[in-house]
Amino acid sequence: MPVLHRNGRRDGLWAWSGAMPCRSCRWCASGLIDHCEAPNRGGPIDGSSAVRIDSSVDIEQAAFVGLVARASRIAQFAAAGPSTLITLLGSDACTLLTAQLLARVAPRVRVLATDDCDLERCDRWGIRHRGLADAGLRGDQDVVVIGGFGSPDVFATAAGLVRPRARIIVTEASEFDAAAARTIVSREVIVAGIKGGSLHDAAALMATGGGPDCEGLGFEVRSGGGGGVARFGVVVKVPSAAL
Ligand SMILES: [Zn+2]
Repeated sequence: MPVLHRNGRRDGLWAWSGAMPCRSCRWCASGLIDHCEAPNRGGPIDGSSAVRIDSSVDIEQAAFVGLVARASRIAQFAAAGPSTLITLLGSDACTLLTAQLLARVAPRVRVLATDDCDLERCDRWGIRHRGLADAGLRGDQDVVVIGGFGSPDVFATAAGLVRPRARIIVTEASEFDAAAARTIVSREVIVAGIKGGSLHDAAALMATGGGPDCEGLGFEVRSGGGGGVARFGVVVKVPSAAL
């Protein structure tokens, strides 16, 4: 999860990935630095990997830059259009941000979750929602995104939702059983894992005011060494003097 830094009050807010790539492992050597095998998590920040947050973006929004980055990559991979049927399973912040981005191009987006409070949030964004138990496994969805769950039951639900040759996008380590595996094979489903996205692109999107609505997604900043852990898992570290 990205870390926010402020290099003095006048220099604005910066985000970086929280770990420096080693620049020497096989993945770094092939340009896949996001998949570095030996990242340095405690070292100094490499200025070239830090992304400046536009001054129009306040810290409450900036805290979500990492999740907006991941949500953008998920939305990109979904390759959605006006007629695409998409179901997102979960009510974590990343899933809700992704739903907002997808709804801009695919009106037939819906969110299935177990938390009534978070489903109400979808009303504000005009996104359809219903309880996970009422999924209706009709095998007609083009894309299913599995958010912050990870149980075999949820993967089985995803497998029951998708049409042949659909896409299931997994954002957390997720177990699945033999029955779900059989469905994946028989329906020739593409299963993709997505862990992150471009901080640079996310910061640029947020600078234009075109980012998803992050308000009320459980953000909290704690100054000092410990950083902040919000309800949805957003981690923000800001030196005390910067607040
Ligand atoms: Zn490396």
